[in-house]
Amino acid sequence: MENKQVSTTQAAAKEPLIGYVHSIETFGSVDGPGIRYVAFLQGCHMRCQYCHNPDTWKLNVGDQMTADEILEDAAKYRAFWGKTGGITVSGGESLVQIDFILDLFEKAKAMNISTCLDTSGQPFTREQPFFDKFERLMKVTDISLVDIKHIDSAKHKQLTQYGNENILDMIQYMAQHHDDMWIRHVLVPQRTDYDEDLKKLGDYIAKIPNDVVQKVEVLPYHTLGVKKYHEMKIKYRLEGIESPTQDRVANAEKLLHTADYNGYKTWMPLPKL
Ligand code: SF4
Repeated sequence: MENKQVSTTQAAAKEPLIGYVHSIETFGSVDGPGIRYVAFLQGCHMRCQYCHNPDTWKLNVGDQMTADEILEDAAKYRAFWGKTGGITVSGGESLVQIDFILDLFEKAKAMNISTCLDTSGQPFTREQPFFDKFERLMKVTDISLVDIKHIDSAKHKQLTQYGNENILDMIQYMAQHHDDMWIRHVLVPQRTDYDEDLKKLGDYIAKIPNDVVQKVEVLPYHTLGVKKYHEMKIKYRLEGIESPTQDRVANAEKLLHTADYNGYKTWMPLPKL
């Protein structure tokens, strides 16, 4: 892993920013390495057909918290993190609140807390002012969990309402800068579970330097979020589609070569600033 450093004066010079938080999970075990304190932020522009949290879509609602408030709360659980745990920011789409995450992660790194960014990459652009912020964010992010919703941009658009060009560009940026990542892919019958697409995705991931991709995960689609759509009176577009069978999950794992990545190297957080 690249040894990254950032000036703590950046964090000190900024005004406190408010983040819009959907919910907090204090003992997350699947959102990054180790046990993690996970802040699920509010807001997402995408509309993934399988999204099980449509209640996170709306911007600028939810609990308002500062970075200091989150870190103070998270610190209560620090004893459980061991060498690999820490904090994760998820969503919704976390990058829609990039100013807030930047503030949070810069302060977390100054406290020697491991930082993990869970993102689908939709807001990524090399245009300013976003790109400068993103570059700074990567300097204080230990690892990113990146969802690739679909490798084919047209099908990505059908599935999420957005193409994937900028998302793949974000992954290329991370690869070029040796920013560690896990890649995750939701397997949905009749949407993403086609061998041709999975092979294409597997080939794409295989071209990313393997000191960057720490893990590749297939996440089977589930129907736990359907009730929320009914409650929110939003049309559910995957009505009647069941979770993939174990055989199809195993097939996807084979085509994405997940075994080549799991446990590739022992993950350790960045050093203290
Ligand atoms: S990116 Fe995540 S939060 Fe946004 S619609 Fe897709 S699954 Fe839901």
